[in-house]
Amino acid sequence: MKEQNKKQNFLACLLSYATESKYKMILSVILSVISITSGLVPFYCFYRVINLFVGNGVCTQKILFWSLCALAAYLVKIVCFGLSTASSHYAAYHILEGLRNRLTERFLKAPLGEVTKHSIGQIKGIMVDKIEDIEPPLAHMIPEGSGHIVLPVVSMIALIVIDWRLFLASLITFPLSLICMGLTFKISGKNFDKYNDSIAQMNSNIVEYVDGIEVIKAFGREGQSYEKYADAIINYKTFVLKWLSSTWVTMKLAFALFPSTLLGVLPVALWLGADGTITAAQAALAVMLSMSMVGSLAKLEVMGNEMKKVQLTVEELQEYLEMPELPEKTAPVRLENYNIDLHDVHFSYEKSEVLHGIDLKLNQGSFTALVGPSGGGKSTVAKLISRFYDVTEGSITIGGVNIKDMPLSQLSDTISFVAQDNFLFRCSLKENIRMGNPQATDEEVYAAARAAQCEEFIQKLPLGYDTPAGDAGKRLSGGEKQRIAIARMMLKNAPVIILDEATAFTDPENEDKIQKSIYELAKGKTLLVIAHRLSTIKNADNIVVLKDGSIEAQGTQEELLGNCSLYRNMWEAHIGAKNWSVGKEMVSYVSTN
Ligand code: ADP
Repeated sequence: MKEQNKKQNFLACLLSYATESKYKMILSVILSVISITSGLVPFYCFYRVINLFVGNGVCTQKILFWSLCALAAYLVKIVCFGLSTASSHYAAYHILEGLRNRLTERFLKAPLGEVTKHSIGQIKGIMVDKIEDIEPPLAHMIPEGSGHIVLPVVSMIALIVIDWRLFLASLITFPLSLICMGLTFKISGKNFDKYNDSIAQMNSNIVEYVDGIEVIKAFGREGQSYEKYADAIINYKTFVLKWLSSTWVTMKLAFALFPSTLLGVLPVALWLGADGTITAAQAALAVMLSMSMVGSLAKLEVMGNEMKKVQLTVEELQEYLEMPELPEKTAPVRLENYNIDLHDVHFSYEKSEVLHGIDLKLNQGSFTALVGPSGGGKSTVAKLISRFYDVTEGSITIGGVNIKDMPLSQLSDTISFVAQDNFLFRCSLKENIRMGNPQATDEEVYAAARAAQCEEFIQKLPLGYDTPAGDAGKRLSGGEKQRIAIARMMLKNAPVIILDEATAFTDPENEDKIQKSIYELAKGKTLLVIAHRLSTIKNADNIVVLKDGSIEAQGTQEELLGNCSLYRNMWEAHIGAKNWSVGKEMVSYVSTN
């Protein structure tokens, strides 16, 4: 039912995108109608001239008058067409801009899971290609289409005025054409979805190929991955050729018959003219009118075909525009403090639950660490506090206020979140750090970079802080990228700091220095650290051991070593690994010296 509604309403949806540029669109439609109907005036002028010849009233002045009228109408046609196209293009590109902004906003407001369930290729396809597909219908089909509907209607009314039989004659090929068109749609209809799927497949495969080029090379899978992309192209070609050949005959017949109004009008006009029912001038006018319709009818036919494609695009766009939003309050709330409370938090990404009733207190001014086996739910807890997703059951409060009752912008101002994989934007390293606080001065940016141990490696780059992150990104190690993200976090200076394996790729010496800076910065704030290397969190006020989505134990390092065997095993394994790595360094030192 919903599917059917969507199909019926796609034109309404398409027009709803145009509401912001409504008047420009209406102006464009009016100008297009004037332009196309002005195209009929020269025919009428010609009819009047023939009449002058037939009625023996011919004189240069009158011929000149009707010729000038025809010329003026032709000029109106050209000028109005130009203005209509300019207006519709102006409106169309404004609408595309609005649509892209609406989609970007949707992606920001949707739960993370809704966004990540689409591949990058699909998202690029919708944001760039599919939205661009909306331009022709908006800029051409709506305004020009209206004109091309009006012209045949006016021409047919004129035929009725001359003689109703001429009107009927003009319709003679329509039923045949409609049968052929119906057959074409019947054969090709179900293939439109497959056509869209094969394009999406090509998009996804090429993005995956480029994105995963490092892994592909590392594992020598060039051939296999290329084949996957090449197969997608071949499948697309085979499918489209098969599809086209299946509709070739009916489509061409429909295209040929639909605008062939002359086929009926010419013999009937000659017959009516011959028996004196209409004058020779009227017969000529009827023939010209039926010829004038040909262009418009042919264009309407092509547009009708294009509409199916547009319909699928609009439906797909609607799916993205209707992605669920995280419900958000707009009025900022006053927070008494920055204590964080998780109360009986349950969460499922999909069907199976990954957190089973977490109760946790993170007090302002304290340092809490989350540890435990991989897959236990540590990152999920961090993401829920940052409201990347909403809890399935239970609640999370900051300063006693449920985070759902806080505007997302206030929550994001309250929390600095640094994850393991950090994204650098396509701007200079300095601007990447400044994102933490757009108002920060250069000096403040440099200070944050120093505290995050970035300065040394940044200064080695040829353009230093001005190195574009795109270029530097290829040269920076994982640990260096993490340090840029930590500098960004330091500059933001939010009252709650969440670090999810934020120094996992950093070498121990730099990690030590960064940690000192973080602890300095975190004084009086709420600090939550997820760490794999237990030595980095051994001084935490509260270490929480999370296993299979439940809290196994919590306490200080000393307490946990005494009462939590899981923590003790993890600690011993960590110390063992550390000793082993120190031992290995010693061995290699000894062997090289
Ligand atoms: P940890 O940080 O302790 O390694 P996570 O919080 O990342 O654990 O994951 C907890 C569980 O949730 C795991 O079983 C993981 O597979 C699952 N999970 C994590 N992210 C997603 C996701 N985006 N969609 C579905 N399941 C997920």
